[in-house]
Amino acid sequence: MKAPICNVCLKSDVLCSKCEEKLENEEITELDIKVSRVLKELSNEHGSLRDSEIVKAYDTENVVVIVTGPEDGAKVVGRKGEIVKKVADEVGKPIRVVEKVENDKDVINGLLSPGEIQSINTVFKPSGESQKIVVDEEFEDKINMTREDLEMIIQEITEEEYELAFE
Ligand SMILES: [Zn+2]
Repeated sequence: MKAPICNVCLKSDVLCSKCEEKLENEEITELDIKVSRVLKELSNEHGSLRDSEIVKAYDTENVVVIVTGPEDGAKVVGRKGEIVKKVADEVGKPIRVVEKVENDKDVINGLLSPGEIQSINTVFKPSGESQKIVVDEEFEDKINMTREDLEMIIQEITEEEYELAFE
């Protein structure tokens, strides 16, 4: 399993000096560590997790978002969601899993589910161009994340600035 912390730290209760430094520099968070260790533990029972990659975990008001490597989402979700259910019990919030893939639209649609991108428009402003994602307003209450949280996570994963609007 590939994770934000090293293999030694995945199995240990303490951090090695290298991972400790990452934590101090805020390259990784306590949540990354917690989620990675829980999944590592679960990989004993669920073998498919062993060749998965955990990129990052984000805490939001209502859900924890786990970002996985491309094609690793289903491994982390598990059959009928059995793995994410166990992770949710450990972190105390429902889990949303999204794969970090090349195509920004796929990442964004993963985060917006059950909603999806209706259109992406370029907006011209004095400060420069930005991309505005329009999502049907009927999904606003179904996504379980605030617009601000979604924008933050989309920006973190895609490294592009997007604005989100429910219209
Ligand atoms: Zn380490």
